[in-house]
Amino acid sequence: QDAGEFIPGFGAAVAPAKQAPLAELEAREISAWFGDHQVLDRVSLTMPAGVITSLIGPSGCGKSTFLRILNRMHEMIPSASLAGEVRLDGVDIYDPSRKLTEARRAIGMVFQKPNPFPAMSIYDNVIAGLRLTGARADRGTKDAIVESCLTKSGLWKEVRDRLRAPGGGLSGGQQQRLCIARSLAITPRVLLMDEPCSALDPTSTRVIEETMVELAQEVTIVIVTHNMQQASRVSTQCAFFLASQGTPGVIVEYGDTEAMFGDPQDPRTADYVNGRF
Ligand code: ADP
Ligand code: MG
Repeated sequence: QDAGEFIPGFGAAVAPAKQAPLAELEAREISAWFGDHQVLDRVSLTMPAGVITSLIGPSGCGKSTFLRILNRMHEMIPSASLAGEVRLDGVDIYDPSRKLTEARRAIGMVFQKPNPFPAMSIYDNVIAGLRLTGARADRGTKDAIVESCLTKSGLWKEVRDRLRAPGGGLSGGQQQRLCIARSLAITPRVLLMDEPCSALDPTSTRVIEETMVELAQEVTIVIVTHNMQQASRVSTQCAFFLASQGTPGVIVEYGDTEAMFGDPQDPRTADYVNGRF
């Protein structure tokens, strides 16, 4: 999809990328298992550059599993296996000749429960992932990264005078923005967010939604949310996951968020977006 896209609710346009080109993430025929239990069945989804894609659907339909597959976290679970392909700008992230850290660096993740290192300073939390990159940053570079990432996550003004205070002392919403800053420090091309606001109050939620919309200018965003209003406020594209009666999760419907909420094509989507299950 093109730059200049309308984001429902904010009336904001997504500007063209300033630096690195935005990346497209593509899942092809993803199936997933825990032991013998299949939880996803041939799920394909293109998550275009420059837009926010939201994944919606009832609990247990495989949204978090799908997200973990997108950055190779699924394979860390001992009983887990998968089939299918994930391509970042056409490059298979599961190609055996590529390093795991390469995929992790390119595709960051923010979780439901804010998980900063609580005893570590705000400053050190932001740069905690830098050693992953292998580059040795000097003090000035680190300072610049900390300021830039905290600014992007909307937290800079609130914490600039106490960067040495522990991350665990921040409010829940601030901790989540710290986690977003930490993800951004390793300059990911895609940011995956698994219900990033469901542990937060409405005000913090709103701040994070605005942050997300801003960030979509430089990083491709995929968000799992249970909140239909949130999906319609932030996302351009939406995929509805469903696992009915013990069958593995599939995507029932996907497309333009406004169209999907206003005129769902599948009766099961209509029931879900209208709160009937
Ligand atoms: P969602 O995020 O949509 O709620 P999940 O991806 O968390 O769904 O879960 C999909 C299915 O996979 C569920 O049946 C869940 O019980 C199962 N599952 C998730 N994680 C694990 C795990 N670590 N081990 C075994 N089963 C799991
Ligand atoms: Mg989940």
